[in-house]
Amino acid sequence: MARTSVAIVGAGLAGLTAAQHLIAAGHDVTVFEKSRGPGGRMSTRRTDVGQKFDHGAAHFGVASEAFAAVVQTWLDADLIRPRDAHPSLYFASAGMSSICRHLSQSLKIVPQVRIHSLVHHDDSIEVFDDKQTSHGRFGHVILAIPAPQTREILPRESHLQQAVRHVHMQPRWVGMFGFTSLVGTDRPDFFVTHSNLHPDDSFEIIRSAGNEVGSAFVVQAGRQWTQGHLEREPSDIIELLTPIVCAALHTDQLPNFSYAHRWRYAFVDEPLGTPCLVDRDHRISICGDWCVGWNVEAAWQSGDALGRLLVDQFSLD
Ligand SMILES: Cc1cc2nc3c(=O)[nH]c(=O)nc-3n(C[C@H](O)[C@H](O)[C@H](O)COP(=O)(O)OP(=O)(O)OC[C@H]3O[C@@H](n4cnc5c(N)ncnc54)[C@H](O)[C@@H]3O)c2cc1C
Repeated sequence: MARTSVAIVGAGLAGLTAAQHLIAAGHDVTVFEKSRGPGGRMSTRRTDVGQKFDHGAAHFGVASEAFAAVVQTWLDADLIRPRDAHPSLYFASAGMSSICRHLSQSLKIVPQVRIHSLVHHDDSIEVFDDKQTSHGRFGHVILAIPAPQTREILPRESHLQQAVRHVHMQPRWVGMFGFTSLVGTDRPDFFVTHSNLHPDDSFEIIRSAGNEVGSAFVVQAGRQWTQGHLEREPSDIIELLTPIVCAALHTDQLPNFSYAHRWRYAFVDEPLGTPCLVDRDHRISICGDWCVGWNVEAAWQSGDALGRLLVDQFSLD
């Protein structure tokens, strides 16, 4: 079997899961990631004093047997634990990004490179970043990024454009709030609260599991509130969210740390309905949670399906 060089754009769970299959089958994989490290929407942020915030997925559930088998390997590796009050939900003791770091161990990851375009050649596909710098020619490229970003990079002539055209993803503002002492102790695990800031909207407040210094909470604003405040500055968002958090926690203590992050593409409206797609003519394929759903398991399912499919296809080439 010939060894295929594969570029994967996006070091989230979907891209890294596809990478595992390709590496195991002996292919040469390079992962390009626009951020400083792997994780994507399973990222973790730490403060100078050691508070920890999972500001994308805070935990995840398991529905399928196939994912349960993978989750068992993460349990065996001491990466994850069930939440005390919700044992069907798992969190990562060292932060959710540790799962993606674990999967990246044997991979060639090129961080802080935002892939911008792909140029198709007869025998390869060339990858360019947003400064028009070429990062080389590959036998195949996987786009493991949210649907709207996929659309921007896909060549116009690829038939995959048609498939992703109607996939929309919703944004979410999240706020991270750290307190030097324990607050909200009446609900030691985590809770969800509804705010009356907006009549139809709800805010989710989650205590960061595994945080060992003071208290750390992540507030996820609702869909409509986010939409209405989408282009506001992070400092405005913190100003608006702080009273909501303090009221929900029944504390007049002000946070020692607060930070807002806007996820432009947090959750898909309506998933694509198929776990992944391949354009063999252009040597490109696509995967990501949005193909099948809106959670960690969906991202894994999509990357797993694509990794297996490509290993089979490359073995026939
Ligand atoms: C606020 C929030 C809360 C959530 N809560 C939960 C939860 O409680 N439970 C649950 O199961 N799921 C939850 N999710 C969903 C879960 O986080 C995602 O389903 C999953 O992480 C998606 O993984 P992915 O690999 O498909 O995409 P991503 O994690 O988005 O990975 C894509 C990667 O591609 C990179 N990238 C994008 N464009 C480029 C480019 N041009 N060049 C290079 N790199 C690029 C990004 O930086 C990112 O690292 C939540 C998500 C959010 C945003």
